Amino acid sequence: MAKPASYTYLTDNEWDRKTAELDRIASSCGLCPRRCNVNRLSGERGFCGAPGGLVISSIFPHHGEEPPISGSGGSGTVFFTHCTLKCLFCQNYQISHLAERRPYTPSELAGKMLSLQSMGCHNINLVTATHFLPWVVRALKEAAACGLMVPVVYNCGGYELASVMSLLSGIVDIYLPDMKYGGNAPAERYSQAPDYATVNREAIREMFRQVGPLRSDESGIAYRGLCIRHLVLPDGVAETQAVVDFLTSAFDPHDLYISLMAQYRPLHRAEEFPEINRRVTAEEYEPLRQKFIKAGFGGFYQDVSLMNDKFIIDFKKRKSERLAED
Ligand code: SF4
Repeated sequence: MAKPASYTYLTDNEWDRKTAELDRIASSCGLCPRRCNVNRLSGERGFCGAPGGLVISSIFPHHGEEPPISGSGGSGTVFFTHCTLKCLFCQNYQISHLAERRPYTPSELAGKMLSLQSMGCHNINLVTATHFLPWVVRALKEAAACGLMVPVVYNCGGYELASVMSLLSGIVDIYLPDMKYGGNAPAERYSQAPDYATVNREAIREMFRQVGPLRSDESGIAYRGLCIRHLVLPDGVAETQAVVDFLTSAFDPHDLYISLMAQYRPLHRAEEFPEINRRVTAEEYEPLRQKFIKAGFGGFYQDVSLMNDKFIIDFKKRKSERLAED
């Protein structure tokens, strides 16, 4: 039987201390690096547009995440609306902006989490939850009190404050953040986030401090650790080399798993920018894959030739590689 998730050991006092601190931050909102200073608790909206309370676009067992996350039972995914980034090539635009969305109370979400666990999902996968954290943590506390015990996966765009992430210590067992860009300039141009690379690196350090390397049980299901996603963009605009340089200088590559994605499609407003208005080629992707492998990172890699127009890319096509194991 799987080891209970870290949050099952939190006391009521510890839960309450975390929610109180998140409430304090949200009351003059600094949940993300934009620090809008609006009172989210009273319903004011900032850059992300999120209201005071949960709004969710979909909840479902996801079978297309990386193999240790989806496993055989699926990853219990909760897809939140109102992202704090405004990527003009948003790959989840159909889910984030066009899907049905509705408000949830923390109690309703707690019930959904328990249902996902009952369905056999290996974890609760929170997708872009940062701007809803006061309410998400309340839901987790309630679900834990009612028997939730699978790990929480924090699946995010990587535009996070390390100080806010530190409040998730003891709650989140698996971090699945993006490193979207190696530099701030492309982040400003494509995501309206001119400090993205700077804050992203600090957040990654904090996440690794909390959970360390990605670890899986005897069935190959992840139960703790960090896995970093990087979506290769056309024309080198994601500055992938700078991502490699940072990670090799900040960490032992053998402690890190990278999910290097080739699935980019020119969606949303990408057609306005000729340099990203096309797919990534194998000639662009393969040398980057080799850089990560040669540096010693564990990884999940995609085959560019298998990328198609399916809305949800099949990560089962990925394979785990590490040069020493080849
Ligand atoms: S979570 Fe939303 S309101 Fe709060 S600082 Fe970030 S963008 Fe602004």
